[in-house]
Amino acid sequence: MSKAASAAAKDLAAEGVTGVHLAWADNNGIPRSRIVPITGFAGAAVRGVGVTSLFAVFDTHDVITYGHASLSTPSGDVRLLPVVERVRRLAGQPALAWAPGRQVAADGSPSPYCQRTVLERQVAKAAEQGLEILAGYELEFAVAPIGSPDILSSPGHTGPAYSPHALVPLDGFITELLHDLAANGLDIGQLHAEYGPAQLELALAATDPVSAADDQLLARQTIHAAAHAHGLRVSFAPLISAEVVGNGWHLHTSVRREGRNLLAGDGTPTAEGASYVAGLLRELPALTAVTAPSVPSTLRLRPGYFSSAYAFWGVENREAPLRYVPGSPLLGEGHANVELKPSDASANPYLALAAVIAAGLSGIADGLTLGEPIGEDPGTWTEDERVARGVTRLPASSAEQRAALLASPLLVGVLGEELAGAFQAVRASDEAWAADKSVEEIVAAHLWRY
Ligand code: GLU
Ligand code: MG
Repeated sequence: MSKAASAAAKDLAAEGVTGVHLAWADNNGIPRSRIVPITGFAGAAVRGVGVTSLFAVFDTHDVITYGHASLSTPSGDVRLLPVVERVRRLAGQPALAWAPGRQVAADGSPSPYCQRTVLERQVAKAAEQGLEILAGYELEFAVAPIGSPDILSSPGHTGPAYSPHALVPLDGFITELLHDLAANGLDIGQLHAEYGPAQLELALAATDPVSAADDQLLARQTIHAAAHAHGLRVSFAPLISAEVVGNGWHLHTSVRREGRNLLAGDGTPTAEGASYVAGLLRELPALTAVTAPSVPSTLRLRPGYFSSAYAFWGVENREAPLRYVPGSPLLGEGHANVELKPSDASANPYLALAAVIAAGLSGIADGLTLGEPIGEDPGTWTEDERVARGVTRLPASSAEQRAALLASPLLVGVLGEELAGAFQAVRASDEAWAADKSVEEIVAAHLWRY
């Protein structure tokens, strides 16, 4: 490994790279990093660089909460090791490279707080059962000129939604972004002006789950840098205003056995694929506490905004938290997948994917069956109709999310006792911060965090 790191460092140095970001995402979905000089990269690949274990209990506002028993003092360290095979020179910041980091203990064993390890465990579990997961994120974000306090007072584009004209004022940014994404090794399906104010969207190609989470982090770095180079800043926050559509980071997954996509039947999932979706549905309240975990996440999940608000599944239903996307003759059967809509930038992408995979695998293990899909928006029904059809509200507050997560031994087990404790401590700290804040204050405080 040190040989590979030395070779990579030599090549990067020859290209003019002076330092490498070792990046990870914390329990608020906020990317964090340490830069090592390129001369120190090979050493870091063997010994890591020291970071405080308290990163597990940083809350969204950079406050260290000592509310988790095992991380209740300022003492302690983990080592951050670059994943050498994923190091990339950053096209938009050409003197820097980027590599995802792994957190390990002093003896080199995985730290219980390493989110990437949690995901690797679930991928291995799937493999033990002969299953392979593919995953890909869609990223929605809003753009404004650098210096704007918010998006709505000076939107980076003014629509119309999906219009090529909307993108004309952003031409330099878009052109550089497409170039940099490709140069950084990120495949995207497409990019467009979304229907929210100053909103854009791009979809990352599906890949193995750990790469999908790495890619999501690298895509953010790439987008931020390209925007900055063109006088723009981007907001990935779940909400940019209480009144308008939010930024969803919808998570698409599919599950394969011996190369066959189990979600691709005859316009419906196979029996095992249906069990996978049913597993997601069964765990949905707890899942949402991991995949859309911040205070603004709960505010984003409202009916009528294509963000999802009620627990059900549907076929191509954009109000459904689980939107089944069938394969088709045109796209091929391999295309079939299920989209999780209650998912956003405030989720740690590794934990989010780990939770999704565990929920899906549990559905398969238990042979769950799936009820009928819903084609309408249950938000337009009366409460009696929802009760009659067994459609419940997703957790709509931090307290409801906490209860939902604690009620899922499966997902608490996925995080592991230590990480689950730290995760809950951070959520409690965010919740306490928000207790006396208005929605406007909450939105403003999260706008530029991700
Ligand atoms: N922006 C919406 C959300 O908050 C999603 C719109 C769409 O379906 O693409 O998730
Ligand atoms: Mg969208």
